[in-house]
Amino acid sequence: MERKKVLIVEDEKNIVDILRFNLQKEGYDTLEAFDGVTGLQLALEENPDLILLDLMLPAMNGFEVCKTIRDKGQNTPVLIITAREAEKDKILGLDLGADDYITKPFSIRELMARVKANIRRVDMLQPTETPPEARLDLGRLVIDKGAGFVTKDGETLELTQRELELLTYLASNAGKVFSRQELMERVWNYEGYVGDVRGVDVAVRRLREKLEDNPAQPVFILTRRGAGYYFQKD
Ligand code: CA
Repeated sequence: MERKKVLIVEDEKNIVDILRFNLQKEGYDTLEAFDGVTGLQLALEENPDLILLDLMLPAMNGFEVCKTIRDKGQNTPVLIITAREAEKDKILGLDLGADDYITKPFSIRELMARVKANIRRVDMLQPTETPPEARLDLGRLVIDKGAGFVTKDGETLELTQRELELLTYLASNAGKVFSRQELMERVWNYEGYVGDVRGVDVAVRRLREKLEDNPAQPVFILTRRGAGYYFQKD
């Protein structure tokens, strides 16, 4: 199997060394950038399988790097490395297009698990593995899993990959309530996940903004208080 390539964008040399060492030990190839401009350039030219992105970087910060990557249409999973707990809120509040974040100091085990989960997630999305009949007709909504898009009343919705996966998972199990923890495990692929599950709330909120006629009064993705989320069964 072809070796997967991870791009590390981080200006702290010792962290880059630790990441490179552990990634290579796990069989990944690595590319390194110590500033945002170089990071962005490598992301676009080298087409890595995953990007580990620090936020506070010289030349161009991680927010801009991530946004530019997405603006250019690149879907590479981006795992943001934040320096402080407080930055989490900032990230969660921003529509950056990042797939996940991890706070420094991080455990290498957790970081490697997330790298694996995000790369595996992309691998599972390879079109050859998707059965051609994978089309969910839900009345006003149609999810074409094979082609990877959703229409509502005949109009295509602009969803991120993660939003599409979340919607597809919930809609495929309409009426069944899933806890945040379960969604982290099944949609985000984090096995035995015990950490912060707020990323699920953020993803649901963004999805509702795109999906619902009135996001404050959702009719497709509903909340069961104290339990989780589910797709409305008609
Ligand atoms: Ca930094």
